[in-house]
Amino acid sequence: MSKSDKHLPPLGPDEELLYEHDHRGPVSEFFAPVAGYGVTITSFFRPTVTEQYPFEGPFVQPRFHGRHQLNRYADGLEKCIGCELCAWACPADAILVEAHSNTPDAQYSPGERYGAVYQINYLRCIFCGFCIEACPTRALTMGHNFELSEYRREAEIYEKHQLLVPLADGMLAPPHPMVEGMSDDDYYKGEVTGPTQRQIDWVRERRPEDSSLQSAQQAVAQPVEQEAAR
Ligand code: SF4
Ligand code: SF4
Repeated sequence: MSKSDKHLPPLGPDEELLYEHDHRGPVSEFFAPVAGYGVTITSFFRPTVTEQYPFEGPFVQPRFHGRHQLNRYADGLEKCIGCELCAWACPADAILVEAHSNTPDAQYSPGERYGAVYQINYLRCIFCGFCIEACPTRALTMGHNFELSEYRREAEIYEKHQLLVPLADGMLAPPHPMVEGMSDDDYYKGEVTGPTQRQIDWVRERRPEDSSLQSAQQAVAQPVEQEAAR
């Protein structure tokens, strides 16, 4: 007993039990030194839970919050309107947005403005998801990709071209005008289902070499062919 223990009150009968080991019988006493192997051996007969990452992708829950992405409307225009609400909502100050005005010759998103500069600093991001909750157009969402390791710190700052989703089949690369007769509200309500012939002609006139023209043209032609076949 140490000097300081002398000043402690004696343990009550219930408290003493807390510090007692369970009594072992002679058989348990005999096997005690190799009892740990029992756990190992029984594990041989249990299903394997080891994941073969990175050779096989790991399973993540459907609502897992991974890397961000900036989404597009069905005609290819960007959903981000440069409002900066995501940046203001971010508790880690990880987002930088700079908005520019759309013009008739350079329309990147429906409405007046678009996100010209968009950066997320993944050295700061804590993947809380506040930014995607704040986004009024669902431009910003989070996918399942969590592989964000880099060798250089600068590389952890993702730029707009890394975050913007690629054009899907049938989309027309911006800039191009909005669908004729549609407002930004209509875009938000999902009324736009793809590019129109007038948008394609506008792009063809200014950027005849644009690689998205062919796919967009096919997407416009298909419903017309289906209508004719009926
Ligand atoms: S997930 Fe959270 S910390 Fe990361 S950018 Fe969005 S708001 Fe900021
Ligand atoms: S991602 Fe959403 S919240 Fe952020 S600037 Fe663009 S539209 Fe606004």
